Amino acid sequence: MWPNSLFSQDEGKSAIPLDHFYVKPRHGTNAIRRVLKNFHFGAYTGLGKTFFNGSLSGYGVYQTPGSPPEIFTNSGTRFTNWINNAGTDTSAPNNSYILVAPGSSNLRFKGSAFNIPIGGSVHYEFDRYRIGGGYSYELMSIGTLQSVTMGDKIGSMKASSATGFVRKYWGMAGVAFYRWNDFLFIGDVQVGSYKLKTNYNTAQVTTSTFFNLGVTIERNLSEYFKVFARPYYEIKNYSLTPSGGQPIRYNINALYVTVGFTYAIPELPRCFLNGCHAQINHAHGNKEYRSRRHAIFKKQNPGYGENYQPIKYKGKNKNKLNPY
Ligand SMILES: [Zn+2]
Repeated sequence: MWPNSLFSQDEGKSAIPLDHFYVKPRHGTNAIRRVLKNFHFGAYTGLGKTFFNGSLSGYGVYQTPGSPPEIFTNSGTRFTNWINNAGTDTSAPNNSYILVAPGSSNLRFKGSAFNIPIGGSVHYEFDRYRIGGGYSYELMSIGTLQSVTMGDKIGSMKASSATGFVRKYWGMAGVAFYRWNDFLFIGDVQVGSYKLKTNYNTAQVTTSTFFNLGVTIERNLSEYFKVFARPYYEIKNYSLTPSGGQPIRYNINALYVTVGFTYAIPELPRCFLNGCHAQINHAHGNKEYRSRRHAIFKKQNPGYGENYQPIKYKGKNKNKLNPY
């Protein structure tokens, strides 16, 4: 007689009869889960560097020794803090502090900011393609801006409140174009709107649409859980219009690298039997389940047990490339 435990899944502790394993037809997936598994919910963070390039054509530069440069118009109104929240300087002017007369062409200031985004996204995958959308909230800290011309005379400009937040919404589309082992490469684009919050005077600011182009490098840890890195370049601008002045246009293109993960809801429910040691998709009754032995970031249906491999390299059969 064969010992009973030979036919059970877990050395006899809580035997699951084998005749429940291979019954057809099987159910378990339903229409909603089959569609849902193509939706990938993601979260990410990262680092960015924004390149500020402000065009102040039409303005002149006025600078009191020891103070940041002010800008002024033909009518003589002088503006302070003209990066993010322009104010008016009403003190009596001293003509000897005029460095640049209004209307000089090519009056520009450049500098950079650093960004820390935290975002969430959802996208739908079909064949090689994916479409979706997302939301992010970023910290942006603006450094000092330097004049491109007369840098020895015109002082550097720092926003009075340099650190604030940026809020973005976008839609996205992507296409997978290359696979290398476990890594999938996807070219993708995001297009959306953004707002400069907290340290900007929103009544003075108009923001453009933004778009960015990137490559997502994705690694499957399981059928449903992926990690990714995404370097991308983003194009956008804003205009700041001081009350009584003309718009100052800032190009704030940026380079980012983000890392994150995506998760999809498995099409098969997790096996409900506490003692079940099956390591692949399997049935109980006429319903199919995924293994309960694997964390979501491990392969859910590896074809063989990922925890305990059933075939060992024995004797003369030592072909590790194809042990089966
Ligand atoms: Zn089971």
